[in-house]
Amino acid sequence: MNMTTHTDDLTSAYLQGLSLLYVEEEEEMRILLGDFLQRRVGTLLTASNGREGLELFREYRPDMVITDILMQDVDGLSMVEAIRQTDPHIPIIIITSAFNETDYLLKAIELGIDKYLMKPIHTASLDKALLEIARSLQAVTELQISQLVFDTAPIGILVADSQMSVVAVNPAFCCITGFDRSEILGRPTKQLEFETLNDPGGVSLWDILRQRQTWSGHGKCKRRTGDEFFSSIIAMAIRKRQQAGVRELYVGIVSDISDCLRAEEALHLAAKVFETSAEAIVITNGDSRILTVNRAFSEITGYQPAEVAWASPSLLRSGRHDRAFYVALWERLLSTGHWQGEIWNRRKNGEVFPGWLTISRVLDGSGRAVAFIGMLSDITEQKLANERIQHLVNHDSLTKLPNRDLMLDRIDQALVSARRDKTLVAVLLVDLDHFKYVNDSLGHMVGDRLLLEVAGRLQTCVPLADTISRPGGDEFVIVLTEFATASAVGLIAAAVLQALGEPFLIEGLPLKLGASIGISIYPEDGPDTDTLLRNAEAARCFAKESGRNTVHFFAEDMNRKMQEAVVLSQELRQALERGEFALHYQPQIDCETGRLTGVEALMRWAHPVRGLISPAHFIGFAEQTGLIDPIGEWVLREACRQLREWQLTVGLAVPVAVNLSVRQFNNKRLTAMVGEILLESGLEARHLELEITERAIMHDAEAVSATLRQLKDMGVRVAIDNFGAGYSSLNYLKRFAVDRLKIDQSFVRDICESPQDKAICGAIVGIAKNLQLSTVAEGVETQQQLEALRALECRIIQGYLYSPPLPPGEFLQYRRTLIS
Ligand code: C2E
Ligand code: MG
Repeated sequence: MNMTTHTDDLTSAYLQGLSLLYVEEEEEMRILLGDFLQRRVGTLLTASNGREGLELFREYRPDMVITDILMQDVDGLSMVEAIRQTDPHIPIIIITSAFNETDYLLKAIELGIDKYLMKPIHTASLDKALLEIARSLQAVTELQISQLVFDTAPIGILVADSQMSVVAVNPAFCCITGFDRSEILGRPTKQLEFETLNDPGGVSLWDILRQRQTWSGHGKCKRRTGDEFFSSIIAMAIRKRQQAGVRELYVGIVSDISDCLRAEEALHLAAKVFETSAEAIVITNGDSRILTVNRAFSEITGYQPAEVAWASPSLLRSGRHDRAFYVALWERLLSTGHWQGEIWNRRKNGEVFPGWLTISRVLDGSGRAVAFIGMLSDITEQKLANERIQHLVNHDSLTKLPNRDLMLDRIDQALVSARRDKTLVAVLLVDLDHFKYVNDSLGHMVGDRLLLEVAGRLQTCVPLADTISRPGGDEFVIVLTEFATASAVGLIAAAVLQALGEPFLIEGLPLKLGASIGISIYPEDGPDTDTLLRNAEAARCFAKESGRNTVHFFAEDMNRKMQEAVVLSQELRQALERGEFALHYQPQIDCETGRLTGVEALMRWAHPVRGLISPAHFIGFAEQTGLIDPIGEWVLREACRQLREWQLTVGLAVPVAVNLSVRQFNNKRLTAMVGEILLESGLEARHLELEITERAIMHDAEAVSATLRQLKDMGVRVAIDNFGAGYSSLNYLKRFAVDRLKIDQSFVRDICESPQDKAICGAIVGIAKNLQLSTVAEGVETQQQLEALRALECRIIQGYLYSPPLPPGEFLQYRRTLIS
């Protein structure tokens, strides 16, 4: 009941949208009924005869017509006939009192009149007639709309009958599946593969439909080509009542959602990537306002999405980059659409961190920037690792000071600034005196500790900004940049000397070093790093030669001296061949008896131009160049020959002492050579004494011990020269087979004035006695020194007091004075 009312309501609403032509000759009737109709329809056109009615019809084309039949000027049926010619389907209601006239009636039937109403008119029956007409018009319209929808909808529609044969498909269905209408119509639906995705295993849509009547969901379908596509499907059964009974129709509505699904999947994936990315991702709009950030962003920066929404990414700025940096960034981003690089940002907690940032611009179709996507990774760890590696590569592992490479780099940099600012750069080469000796004798542990201490002391002498480096070994380089004059550099160098001159206490052992410093200054001493270093090195050599523990500025004449050194080495090479070397002999006297107990052979170089040159001037040099080996061999051979000659000619019965340099002593061939020479000269081994310094035996204990043992076995005597001047260790005296200690001149010189030196001399004599070694005092010039030594029970004396070293002839004369 309600349903009916509802449908009628819908129909009368529909009626309200229609137009109606009402033709009535009787005026009273026309007004009366016209009033009623006016309320029921949308537009009412009234006419008083057929002619007028026809004119209105032609002009306005109303949706329906109500007309009287009998009229003066063109009757109703003639008008209807004319109207029907224009519009054969327009609904027409005839109002008449003349149905007894059969002719009219027949004609009306022929014209297909929809309704007849008899006068007098009951509004209820008129209303009913109107509604009926409206309903049929409505049905027609709906059908037309349905057809339109069916034909033009972008979704595929398939209709099957109860036998599941296809009875209709729309163009969209054909388009989606790729079938032609003619290929499907009348065919069983089974030919179309539609499987539901909702049901596990995929059930045919058509089977489901039969069981459930309606179904909706997603399905996997096949096109004509065999390609699969995904679709969203609505399927239902429609029961249609017909004369023959109830007909069942199945309707399937199918849309291809493959693209949608793909897009959705891609979107899903993108969202996942966005959320799980280890890189912080920021997406801003075209005005650089943050739209969204991912989880990594929050983890890295400490900001939650809500805190940064609509903010500018500049809230991360660290303050470490200047304006120019950001200007350049934006210029590049706007011109190329892309920027990437290292950037310092600030976390919410204020911490500044390094990041690698990539920004890309997103344009819309018109080329306007609609978004910027920033991807930022925190490279703190990487940077730290890099820095650690860089540090390892560039620094000395012991002192942590810059190594050679970094030092060169620093000097280069300093020179770049100095050239630009017209300032000075000083390169100080600090070379530790005696370090090698300490390292060799006390071990690398002590050496390392000492180097660390040295590095520490250097740092206290040098302004913070300047660089101290350790290019290697016992060498340090200081690069000074902030000074005005060379004397300022001199003051710093003096402070360094002072600092390194103080004794070091390593493992309770007081060690005294000292340093030689060579200085070169840019621009005066060289235009580039290489030259400056070379010249500083020359200055350092000069410092070392001129007595250690000194500072030398590079000067042009140093170059000359280096040049001279080259000449000297050439001359030294030739001196042997030219027979320019000679040996002088200094007697060793027992002061108690006044007898000759021994003789030391000391080399002299009779330089053709410079005259007699002291070995002090060339022995070190010969050592460095390796010339000491042939020269030393000559000395040994000559000393042995001379002594044997003297034995044979004048009956000299004392041993000869020959000096050996460190290098000679460490030569593996030493004992073999000594043996050969002894054999050759016919001198007994016990008449040869080899003088070696403490340095020579502080080297490789095993090798030294073996060499000394071999010499001893041969019968050769060994004396320690300059005893007490170096780092003496009593241990080696006990371990090694030596025969004699020669007290260094430096203790003898001040023995009368310095109680300390006197005590040292006494101690040496004591030690020697204890170990059953003999002692010789060197450099004894005065009677007082002799008395002091005698009091200490040191009997054997060598020195000017008795005689300086003498050429062979003079030595024999001197010897005669002793005998007589
Ligand atoms: P040394 O072995 O300590 O030799 C003693 C040095 O003291 C000699 O200097 C000698 O002339 C000097 N002298 C001797 N008595 C006195 C004195 O009363 N007062 C002073 N002030 N000096 C005195 P020289 O001959 O100039 O030799 C210097 C150094 O050269 C030697 O020191 C030695 O280490 C080295 N040397 C000399 N000849 C040779 C050699 O054939 N081979 C090697 N390897 N070194 C040598
Ligand atoms: Mg000597």
